[in-house]
Amino acid sequence: MTIKAQRGTKDILPEESATWQMIRENAQKVFQNAGFGEISTPVFEATELFNRGVGDSTDIVNKEMYTFCVGGADKNSSSITLRPENTAGVVRAYIEHNLNRISPPQKFWYFAPMFRYERPQAGRQRQFHQVGVEMFGASEPIADAEVILTAVEFLNSLGLNDLTVELNTLGCKNCKNAYREAIKEVIKPYLDEMCDDCKMRYEKNPLRMLDCKNDTCQKIFEKEEVKKVILKDYICDDCREHFETLTGYLNSLNINYKINKMLVRGLDYYNRTVFEIKSENLGSQSAVCGGGRYDGLVEMLGGQPTPAIGFAMGVERLYAIINKKDPEKLDYYIVSTNTSETIKLARSLRNKNKKVDYDFQGKKFSKQLEKASKVANFALILGDDEIEQKFYSIKNLTTGEQVKVFNIDEL
Ligand code: ATP
Ligand code: MG
Repeated sequence: MTIKAQRGTKDILPEESATWQMIRENAQKVFQNAGFGEISTPVFEATELFNRGVGDSTDIVNKEMYTFCVGGADKNSSSITLRPENTAGVVRAYIEHNLNRISPPQKFWYFAPMFRYERPQAGRQRQFHQVGVEMFGASEPIADAEVILTAVEFLNSLGLNDLTVELNTLGCKNCKNAYREAIKEVIKPYLDEMCDDCKMRYEKNPLRMLDCKNDTCQKIFEKEEVKKVILKDYICDDCREHFETLTGYLNSLNINYKINKMLVRGLDYYNRTVFEIKSENLGSQSAVCGGGRYDGLVEMLGGQPTPAIGFAMGVERLYAIINKKDPEKLDYYIVSTNTSETIKLARSLRNKNKKVDYDFQGKKFSKQLEKASKVANFALILGDDEIEQKFYSIKNLTTGEQVKVFNIDEL
């Protein structure tokens, strides 16, 4: 029996890697231009980090974690989890290495695999990648604007312009509490009809109910008296001013956004600004980016009180909209039957940072040219005449034009 890749995991093949590399390179460029430094944290962490840092009313912690017990029953066994997201790990590293010693704001970016035990479907895998940023030490609305701008600039750099930013504010501890109580009150009569998850969220984190994907629950939120409470403004003056200053920046930057009062997002510890970026071209898994402010998390995980904000994007979903599957072409394919000249020439060109390949099997020139036109931009022809008279024939495989070159430095 042959062994296949695990359900919900995917191999990334060479033909796909040009697009993957492009996504990573653009992330590096756009994020580093904006002052974010790259951070890589381990793939697994203590389970406790996610229980606390993602929150035990979330689907991630309740259903989606890859958790292992290591060390055996009678030793000092410990529970570890493959990271389902990267914010908790970055916050852990931030505290552990006292990164608050850098003058604020401290800005980090990452590109890394994540693991969630979910039902695999288009746009939803069990191992997938996220690219994202985290910024610490800035509570001002311009920090929120900067993070959203960075997300939008990165997406634009990938040629993705027809995206919508959905924006909401959850308020601070005070206004969030009033909102939470009002929602609990109006939902109470319907609680029996709601799904088991929402019954649990009702107790632990009622706002998360709004994010429920169950139809019955969504219908309850559509009821007039419920909707009225959801849409009512409970935001305090400070939070309102923060939000209005943020939208002012977004307006002046011409960033297209839409306020969505139902947007609450996954983590338990978001406050004030939350946002998602969606693409029409992705069907039901339409969110490419999720982010928000999490001012309480650093302190909750044992650090100093530190405002923070960030976002994460699903790289597979970005890949699906870019959907550019062309393999990257070689610069030159050497067409020759003289293998000992060819291997030397290939080495010189590769040392000049050219992408070069050639035939090993002494195939006919016509066959080699056919292969060249599939895989390369130029054919570098080295036949008997060329070797005897010491020149190279270079054929442009797009236009068919052919020229003589006497020195490879001229290429
Ligand atoms: P969803 O509602 O689609 O489950 P989420 O709220 O769980 O998303 P986040 O935790 O905010 O997602 O992750 C940020 C981004 O990571 C998402 O917008 C999405 O693009 C991507 N993502 C999340 N889970 C997966 C997955 N299982 N497979 C592929 N991409 C994912
Ligand atoms: Mg999810």
